[in-house]
Amino acid sequence: MTVRTRFAPSPTGFLHVGGVRTALFSWLYAKRHQGKFVLRIEDTDQERSTKESVQAILDGMEWLGMDYDEGPFFQTERYTRYHEVAQQFLNEGKAYRCECSKERLEDLRTAQLAAKEKPRYDGHCRDKNLPVSDKPFVIRFKNPEQGTVSFHDQVYGEIHVANSELDDLILVRSDGHPTYNFAVVIDDIDMKITHVIRGDDHINNTPRQINLFQALNAEIPVFAHLPMILGEDGKRLSKRHGAVSVLQFKELGVLPHALLNYLVRLGWSYGDQEIFSINEMVDRFDLKNVSRGVSSFNYEKLYWLNQHYQKNDPAEEVAESLRWYFEQAGIDVTKGPKLTDLVAIQAERCKTLAEMCQMSLYFFTDSIEYDEAAVKKHLRPVILEPLTALYERLQKVDVWEKDHLQECINDISAEFDINMGKIAQPLRVAVTGSGMSPSIDMTLTLLGRERVLARLKTALEQLKIRAQTNS
Ligand code: GLU
Repeated sequence: MTVRTRFAPSPTGFLHVGGVRTALFSWLYAKRHQGKFVLRIEDTDQERSTKESVQAILDGMEWLGMDYDEGPFFQTERYTRYHEVAQQFLNEGKAYRCECSKERLEDLRTAQLAAKEKPRYDGHCRDKNLPVSDKPFVIRFKNPEQGTVSFHDQVYGEIHVANSELDDLILVRSDGHPTYNFAVVIDDIDMKITHVIRGDDHINNTPRQINLFQALNAEIPVFAHLPMILGEDGKRLSKRHGAVSVLQFKELGVLPHALLNYLVRLGWSYGDQEIFSINEMVDRFDLKNVSRGVSSFNYEKLYWLNQHYQKNDPAEEVAESLRWYFEQAGIDVTKGPKLTDLVAIQAERCKTLAEMCQMSLYFFTDSIEYDEAAVKKHLRPVILEPLTALYERLQKVDVWEKDHLQECINDISAEFDINMGKIAQPLRVAVTGSGMSPSIDMTLTLLGRERVLARLKTALEQLKIRAQTNS
């Protein structure tokens, strides 16, 4: 048997990180078993489905590198198929036409609630065999009245639900749209899905779906329902907690690998291992080790992982991700150091790629912004002479390389008998605009001769003016 899993999001908003965790588990399971992973867009709710949301799903999947073998399939393109099955059910007496009015259903519901009963359809039209007419109608499934639906959920274990608990499900609404439970079963059958891995908000739908599988004489897939993801306050993870949309994590500067590693551990474990390459995730993922407990989202841990991968993933990969942030900031990355060199010196210093970009802008721009407080503190008249000497010395450097540059700084600090920091810090402010940058030798190296000398020259001119006005 070839394992076939699917991710079946409804495009009614952004792609929630909880949905991505579901997608990841399905993707890993398929990969682990050399199976196929299918993407299906469940867009039958036409009022709430949007093109932007479909795009956000596709972009999110692409950003994370979660490739699908088949799809994206759109349910709205499969209506003929759903209507064909509904007709087949009607012909076989497995479904029926129901003409109950909204008012009747509302009255029924009110009466049931008043009697403290679970609201459910009472089967009013079930045996009427209503003929085709112009009246509005829905198609309902004749749910078995006897017996129990049992299945073994890979996460929740044995589940039994008596058919007496289930009412006759609407398959097709009066406007011709199929319902979720109906479309999902036909799709899972047609797409030969062997393992349905999804959020546990669907666990109550599963017995109804199993009855539909049976009515279609189809093989019932394996089910695994994943517990919800909560915020750290124990409430369902939502915008209140921070980023929840997968593309928001991209904007924040999280590496795809870090987010995947974070998500794989959200409800799944492999001993106490925390760090997983993608290949390790694929090799080790198993539904057996998915926990039944809810998991809570911890942003600090995500950032910790992000920094880990900034430092440890191949610099080319990190640099490739970093490029996007510069593009967003309107920076031409060809006008500065190699991004891999930047990653090497900044990864340790920044939590995210967005921060890395923000803290590296001075490597790419012609003019820099000065932090006034740093200028005031470090570019004082006393430094004019040693900094001028350093400028002259740097002009003579043959090979613009970190050891030579450091040597210049050391020589000047010896010559003027000031400690290294006392000259390095003003130099840093002069060439980067702020008092914070990677080590001064690397900062100078990556800035390049031209930028360093030009910026130093400007800073010295201003320092001179200030020294004169002060005196
Ligand atoms: N479209 C459903 C949702 O977004 C998923 C249904 C399923 O996986 O069966 O919740």
